[in-house]
Amino acid sequence: MSDAASALAKLGAHPGLCLGCRHRLLNETRRGTAYLRCGLAASHETMPRYPRLPVRACHGFAAAEDQAPQSLDK
Ligand code: SF4
Repeated sequence: MSDAASALAKLGAHPGLCLGCRHRLLNETRRGTAYLRCGLAASHETMPRYPRLPVRACHGFAAAEDQAPQSLDK
């Protein structure tokens, strides 16, 4: 399992749209918890830095080109 897939599996909720978005950033703490950050928030103040999951609608969504959406069993 990749680091990203491992972090995704540790999120407390399904990420929804963020799963396949190019702006998605995943962080995993040393304690093994993971959280999702929106990379667009740094340049767009209307975007939440830590979106409430699952994200079902988002005007900033942009499909990731270099990664296929991954499935989660949650
Ligand atoms: S732009 Fe929207 S869909 Fe993309 S990571 Fe941010 S909150 Fe999630």
